Amino acid sequence: METIDNVAELRSRLAVERGAGNTIGFVPTMGYLHAGHVSLIDAAVASNDLTVVSIFVNPLQFGAGEDLDSYPVDIERDLAACADARADLVFMPSVSEMYPPGMTTTVTVGGVSKPLEGQSRPTHFAGVATVVAKLFSIVGPCRAYFGAKDWQQVTVVRRMTADLSLPVEVISCPIVREADGLALSSRNVYLSPEERRQAPVLRRALLAGIELVEAGVTDHSVIETEMARVISTAPLAQLDYAAAVPADSLVADGPLRGEVRLLLAVRFGGARLIDNAGCRTVES
Ligand code: AMP
Repeated sequence: METIDNVAELRSRLAVERGAGNTIGFVPTMGYLHAGHVSLIDAAVASNDLTVVSIFVNPLQFGAGEDLDSYPVDIERDLAACADARADLVFMPSVSEMYPPGMTTTVTVGGVSKPLEGQSRPTHFAGVATVVAKLFSIVGPCRAYFGAKDWQQVTVVRRMTADLSLPVEVISCPIVREADGLALSSRNVYLSPEERRQAPVLRRALLAGIELVEAGVTDHSVIETEMARVISTAPLAQLDYAAAVPADSLVADGPLRGEVRLLLAVRFGGARLIDNAGCRTVES
């Protein structure tokens, strides 16, 4: 497995692969890899001739007062995980390599980037869209792999890819969870033992929401109130939002119908956890 930290070197290395007719699968990450990230690498390796993983803690997607400075890092362990998963190349640029001095261009996605995370973290998705657009331009993948764990993120990336006619297939992979239902996240390391014990309440709230949808409830506020109630049973949990929305628009405007996404953001002390689940309304 190769590691490259330089944009020009990566471009010329991958131009050779494309010239030889090889397909490139791409997995963007912020490192501190876990089995969720590895599932994306596995999917890329299964369907492409060459798999590129990027490890870059993107300052642009962190707001003021967020955890940029404390974001967990373990490059040696990450490289071992990438090698074990049979990734071919890891791109690990510095901030100055990704964002040359004087940069003034950013990518802003409308619509789906505005609600939910967009309300709580107003600059987040412009940071995500800008780095993903740059990485797509640098890597030139045929396919790029994202986790459904960050449902709104993959929705924003799909929108951007369609709007800018980027020649990449965006693939969403299932959420990988701990045995007790907690979605794997690099940020779970922030949880105290007691917070970690209570954190599976997110999964229980999502399951309670699914149960209501599958029982025929279409009023999003009823489902949201029930998810919030379940979250409130965990004494250390502070709800940021509980949403039941159409899976594509992410904004409820009337009774739910068809594919629904249930999404949660919950704080435990200094950790902010997000999770989501899909379901379908019962058609009458
Ligand atoms: P991050 O390093 O947090 O930026 O995540 C990199 C990619 O891994 C994103 O596409 C995430 O959605 C995905 N990911 C993170 N956690 C999980 C998980 N538990 N299951 C599946 N994919 C995940």
